[in-house]
Amino acid sequence: MIRPLGRITGTTASAQRGPWAYPSYREFLAQRFPGQHIRKLCLHAGFTCPNIDGSVSRGGCSYCNNEGFAPQLVSAGNLQRQWDRGRDALRRRHRRVHGFIAYFQSFSGTYASVEQLRQIYDQVPGAFDECVGMSIGTRPDCVPDPVLAYCAELSQRLPHFTLEMGLQSDRDEVLRAINRGHDVDCFLDAVARAAAHKISLCAHVILGLPHEGDDAPERLGRLLAGLPVQFIKIHNFHVMAGTPLERAFERGVVSAPERARYVTMAARLIAELRPDQYLQRVLADAPAHILRSGAWCHDKQGVLSDLRQAIEFIDG
Ligand code: SF4
Repeated sequence: MIRPLGRITGTTASAQRGPWAYPSYREFLAQRFPGQHIRKLCLHAGFTCPNIDGSVSRGGCSYCNNEGFAPQLVSAGNLQRQWDRGRDALRRRHRRVHGFIAYFQSFSGTYASVEQLRQIYDQVPGAFDECVGMSIGTRPDCVPDPVLAYCAELSQRLPHFTLEMGLQSDRDEVLRAINRGHDVDCFLDAVARAAAHKISLCAHVILGLPHEGDDAPERLGRLLAGLPVQFIKIHNFHVMAGTPLERAFERGVVSAPERARYVTMAARLIAELRPDQYLQRVLADAPAHILRSGAWCHDKQGVLSDLRQAIEFIDG
């Protein structure tokens, strides 16, 4: 049964934390699908993004390189081929897999009319065997009410459905500097409307952005803790090739956080969250050939271990 929003206390809260000292998506899935190993399977719906096609901007977010999302699993082409390829790759990589969550991560997964969205997403639950859920990543300016009503419909049809939206920073000046193309109020409005449709939400934030302020982890954590958001992704800010930030990074105008600083910031943010908010990601990586900063992210197990220690230190 999906745990409803709301604070939980005492032993239940600590039992939820799992091996990494925070409530992870793995724990959520273990509760939601007992005894089954569920994996996310990345698919590309074929939509673009208003921050790229000129509707909002042509430059895109200044850190954006969609190749960094999941290049090894996302391939162009029809969904059935993508599904088969992704499923086979995940089965090769993991010993036991009982089901998959169709994950539309690239670009903006709701940037289309409801009719166009139906042509893509309606086929997912029925056509793909072993599909137990769907997660769609999008922008807060791409979720008008008819789209949210359709997402609510998908939520009813699937055992698990999540809409993932990027906030990135809680400061409008930072969002302007990274050319996000929306402000904080746009995100808050989208979250409130999605919650009114009873859609399960995942919020995405970045730590280490230029000019975010020393107290960004506490500010972001408190903001997220006050929102009807069940899942959270925290990314370390890093610089990828082919992005506007790459040039600024090479000129020394911007810098990305070192490992120890990021770990401390992530632990401070996590300390502010509600115990019933599950972390879907605490570390972003990207293929080495496009990563220009923060190669430390490739030591995932080491960073997670450092993060656990930092969280335990904060918890006392
Ligand atoms: S909203 Fe996403 S896909 Fe669009 S430019 Fe920004 S990071 Fe890239």
